[in-house]
Amino acid sequence: MNQQRYKASPTSRNEIRRLIKYIRKLTGTENDLYFDVIDFLEMKVPKLIPEFELEICSEEDMGNKYGETFPAASKIALREDIYIGAIERDGFSRFCVGHEMGHLFMNDIDSISLCKLEKGERLRAFEDPEWQADAFAGELLMYHPLIKHMSVDEIAEKCGVTHSAAGTQYKKK
Ligand SMILES: [Zn+2]
Repeated sequence: MNQQRYKASPTSRNEIRRLIKYIRKLTGTENDLYFDVIDFLEMKVPKLIPEFELEICSEEDMGNKYGETFPAASKIALREDIYIGAIERDGFSRFCVGHEMGHLFMNDIDSISLCKLEKGERLRAFEDPEWQADAFAGELLMYHPLIKHMSVDEIAEKCGVTHSAAGTQYKKK
């Protein structure tokens, strides 16, 4: 089995916050507690990344994957139930969409090809692309300047996320 892993360019939570602030401003959503991920995905991302491609795949095709991102091709594939869930404001599905966006915006091809890890080298949490994508989703859906004085319950309700995601983000305030 191939034990090698790839890492994206080191991105701390503060760097991710700066990126989200930029995206929120650019898309005029800096006052939106409820971030509309579907509008972002279908209307705004294509303006930021003209070659962006979204594919909705059946559960048969995707298996246990909620989504998959191909940064080199600027493409996101979403499993149909996750796409529909996000339209229907399901917190878990919305987070999954945010997670794939994280891969799209942060894992550029150069950083992936250049950072093949040597055997035995351990990733620090913030270099792990999965950590980065989760952190991106959390910051995108629960915009830091807006949730500062909110409780976990308020964050979950107003930002349209699961209680668990709200609890995790609450600790990062
Ligand atoms: Zn991922």
